[in-house]
Amino acid sequence: FIKAYLDLFTDEKKTEGIIVVLQDVTEQQKLENMRNEFVANVSHELRTPLTSIKSYTETLLDGVLDDRQMSEKFLDVINSEADRMTRLVKDLLQLTRLDNKQMQWNMKLISFTELIKSCVVKMEIEAKNKSQELESYIMGDIPEIMADKDRIEQVVLNILSNAIKYTPEGGKVTVYISKLYSDVYMKVVDNGLGIPQKDLPRIFERFYRVDKARSRELGGTGLGLAIAREIVEAHGGNIIISSQYGKGTEVTVKLPVQPLSAEQKRE
Ligand code: ADP
Repeated sequence: FIKAYLDLFTDEKKTEGIIVVLQDVTEQQKLENMRNEFVANVSHELRTPLTSIKSYTETLLDGVLDDRQMSEKFLDVINSEADRMTRLVKDLLQLTRLDNKQMQWNMKLISFTELIKSCVVKMEIEAKNKSQELESYIMGDIPEIMADKDRIEQVVLNILSNAIKYTPEGGKVTVYISKLYSDVYMKVVDNGLGIPQKDLPRIFERFYRVDKARSRELGGTGLGLAIAREIVEAHGGNIIISSQYGKGTEVTVKLPVQPLSAEQKRE
């Protein structure tokens, strides 16, 4: 094609030189596809609770309102669907802020151990409700780290709540806190459902869920891990998940004791 194009010009003898610009649009196309898929996902995720709110409201208006017990049940559903929409919008706003680098990071020296211990205490009720064992072990001396406490707490709570959510009654969730060189680690091990090998590479994608119905039923938005990864990476760390389907999952968060400054990163 390029040769034929060049011949066309050289035949005329007038052209002294031409410039051919070839642009690879594959990357652009990929981005466009991702954007379209994201918008479709958001619309779907918002429409599901809306449909349910609308149909329960209509049924109430159609006469169920006279039945107090039934009305309360319906209003409970409406309320929790509205909560789900609020969670979704909150998560989406946070992702946008992370994408646009508009997050205000409140970096302070904090105790990694204390932060995780307080998250474990917060999750104890949920574990107890499922008769699960929830234990934590601190391996050696763990230094304080420079981090945004609220954001790291959000990450830890998300990982712990996933471990509890995706582990059946009577299961076990264990948290290990350790340090190696200039990084601290939190490893959360559960003996729950596990993640099939084929799903593992996509697990951090927005809205990607192994079992959509189960995740929704458990109140998930499918954005938790995507947000967690962005937060941890913004601190200069990483999250690794390994899993055996039917056996359990292991999530490891690595955070540097002292994140690199912008100048250090550029070097
Ligand atoms: P969700 O809101 O659906 O929990 P997340 O982004 O937190 O969204 O997690 C994405 C998916 O990863 C979940 O829907 C679930 O399929 C899978 N997952 C995450 N953690 C675990 C775990 N500990 N055990 C099994 N599956 C998990």
